[in-house]
Amino acid sequence: MPSIYEKYQLKQVINTSGRMTALGVSTPRPEVVEAVMNGMNHYFEMKDLVNKTGEYIARLLDVEGATVVSCASAGIAQSVAAVLVKDSDWLLENLHSTVIENNEIVLPRGHNVNFGAPVGTMVALGGGKVVEAGYANECSADQLAAAISPRTAAILYIKSHHCVQKSMLSVEQAVVVARKHNVPLIVDAAAEEDLQCYYRSGADLVIYSGAKAIEGPTSGLVVGKTQYVEWVKRQTAGIGRAMKVGKEGILGLTCAIEHYLTAEKESGAQMVEKMTPFIAALNAIDGVSARVVWDSAGRDIARSEIKFNEAVTGIATGELVNALKQGEYAIYFRGYKANEGIIEADVRSVNAQQLDIVARRIADVLNKEKNA
Ligand SMILES: *Cc1c(COP(=O)(O)O)cnc(C)c1O
Repeated sequence: MPSIYEKYQLKQVINTSGRMTALGVSTPRPEVVEAVMNGMNHYFEMKDLVNKTGEYIARLLDVEGATVVSCASAGIAQSVAAVLVKDSDWLLENLHSTVIENNEIVLPRGHNVNFGAPVGTMVALGGGKVVEAGYANECSADQLAAAISPRTAAILYIKSHHCVQKSMLSVEQAVVVARKHNVPLIVDAAAEEDLQCYYRSGADLVIYSGAKAIEGPTSGLVVGKTQYVEWVKRQTAGIGRAMKVGKEGILGLTCAIEHYLTAEKESGAQMVEKMTPFIAALNAIDGVSARVVWDSAGRDIARSEIKFNEAVTGIATGELVNALKQGEYAIYFRGYKANEGIIEADVRSVNAQQLDIVARRIADVLNKEKNA
C-alpha cells in the first residue's frame, strides 16, 4: 500500500517550527488516536456525550464547566455569541439579523492580532463588535475600564506570544476591571500550557486549542463558570452548527486532556540533550553559529538559535529558509528573525535522525551557494 505521501504526492515535512497550524499542529499519542477511533465506531446520544465528557473534563481540571468545541477560533466565536444570546431563543436563531444594542467586545488594542486569522473576524462571527482599549503599545487597567460602556457585552483578553507584551495589563487586572463593571471576561489562551490558571484568576470563559499544547485532535476546549459554559453549549443550535465538533473530536480531546495532565513532558534539559549533536554539526559549517536559547515567554522550552554570517554564506537567510522548504523534505523553522540572519529550530516535533537531515541540508544548500 502506498503511503499517503505517495498516494497524493504530498511533500514530506520536517517540522522544527513547533505547533504550527500550517503544518498540521501536532501528532497525538496512540491512546488519543484510539479514543478518536472509538468515537468513530460507535453511536451516542450526542447531548449525553457532550454533557458527560464536559463534566469529566471539568472534574479533571477542577473547574465549574467545560465543553469541547471544534477549535479555539470556534470557541471565541461561540463565547461571544454566548454572552450576547444568553438564554434568548429569539437571538439564538436570529443572531445576525437582530440589532443588539450591547454587543461590544472590549479588547486591548495590542491583543487585536492575526493568529492565522483575525481575532476580530471571530468576534464578528459571534455577533460582537470589537472596541479597542488603550494603544498599540500599552493598555492599563484604567484604559481597559475607560472603553467599557452600557453597550459592553464582555471583555476579551488574548493570552499569546502573538500579542504586544509590554505595558499590557495582566489577566488578574482584567478580572478586577470585569468584576467592577459587572461584565464577563473571556480569555483566549489557545496555545497556552496551563489549563487552570486563568480560570482560577477569575475569568468567566477560557478557550484553548485542542491540538496545540494538549496535542489532541483538531478541536478546542472552553472552560469556565457553569452558566457561561451552558450558554456556549446552547450555540450548537445557533452559529455552533457551522463549526460542529464530532464525537471523534470530543472523545479524542477528552482523552488527550487526561494524558496531558499526567504524562511527563519533554523537559527543556531533554530538549538540550537532543539538540546538542545538531548544534555541534551546525557550528562546524562555515559562517554558521548555533546555540541553545530558552523560550522568551519563560516556558521550559529550549530551542536552537542558528545565526548566519551572510558575508560568509553568501546567501540571504530568507532565501536559505525558502531553499530548505524545497528539497526532498520540506524543512520548516521558526523564521521570525530571518531578516536579522537568525532562525530558530524547535526540536519537540522531530527526532535525532531528522535533526541530522536538517543539519546536512543546511550544509548542502550553503555548499551549493559557495560553488555556484
Ligand atoms: C492558534 C490560536 C488560535 C486559534 O486556534 P485554533 O484552534 O486553530 O482555531 C486563537 N488564538 C490564538 C492566540 C492562537 O494562538
